[in-house]
Amino acid sequence: NMEGKEILKVDNLSKSFGGIKAVSDLSFSVEGHHIHAVIGPNGAGKSTLFNLITGVISSDKGRIKFLGEDITSLRPDKISEKGISRTFQNIRLFPDMTVFETVLIGTYLLTGGKILPALFLSKEFRRKEHLAKEKVEDILNFAGLWDVRNEYAAKLSYGNQRRVEMARALAMDPQLLLLDEPTAGMNPKETKELMDLFSLVNSQGITILIIAHDMHLVNTLSNQVTVINFGKKLVEGPPAEIQRHPEVLEAYMGR
Ligand code: ADP
Ligand code: MG
Repeated sequence: NMEGKEILKVDNLSKSFGGIKAVSDLSFSVEGHHIHAVIGPNGAGKSTLFNLITGVISSDKGRIKFLGEDITSLRPDKISEKGISRTFQNIRLFPDMTVFETVLIGTYLLTGGKILPALFLSKEFRRKEHLAKEKVEDILNFAGLWDVRNEYAAKLSYGNQRRVEMARALAMDPQLLLLDEPTAGMNPKETKELMDLFSLVNSQGITILIIAHDMHLVNTLSNQVTVINFGKKLVEGPPAEIQRHPEVLEAYMGR
């Protein structure tokens, strides 16, 4: 149980692309069971931060610790095995897969990630596969996707596609879930429904690190906010506090 403890720690993290310092000496930590928001203007380095944490790109400098363990130079699959899952800013769903199949992919870690010809399937593998399917059914119910389980994921409404992405991430049994602008481009109803789902996920003990633009979402859902600009940390604190900060109003709210 990570409640009240530090689940993720980022220390002096830096990453440049050519001459651009996308992330610059960034340090912050995430407390277990929190919903921790990362906000900042476009190009501030938020998605780059997620790419660094999940091992999609490697840092120039700095360290990342998850559950006390250094994960800085691990491969993305190793990092997700440790318990960090994510969604992407731009939805990434395979066009030819149903909702069920898409979420089942997330459970492949459970079955050892191997897709063997049926002939070679051991009893153990079949047992695990059966468990994986039951788990997918649970997650689909949980995420409100049961009724659309046999539809092509990429053909669903935008709000439901976001749900599928999150369901796929949940199938990997994360302790920490990273959500990159999950409500961007959604209507108020879809946003509200998704926010309720985040709360529900969080109430299961899953820590959430969320990149958000919607200040209503930040105020309603998050315990802690880290504001970044030009790859650096500008301010950090509970939502009510950071909102009073003049630099935040200027840099983020454009005032
Ligand atoms: P945010 O998510 O906060 O909008 P990003 O992390 O996407 O910001 O980008 C931060 C900066 O890094 C931007 O200037 C962006 O153009 C640059 N950047 C991000 N990823 C790459 C990349 N793979 N190659 C080159 N530049 C990149
Ligand atoms: Mg981004």
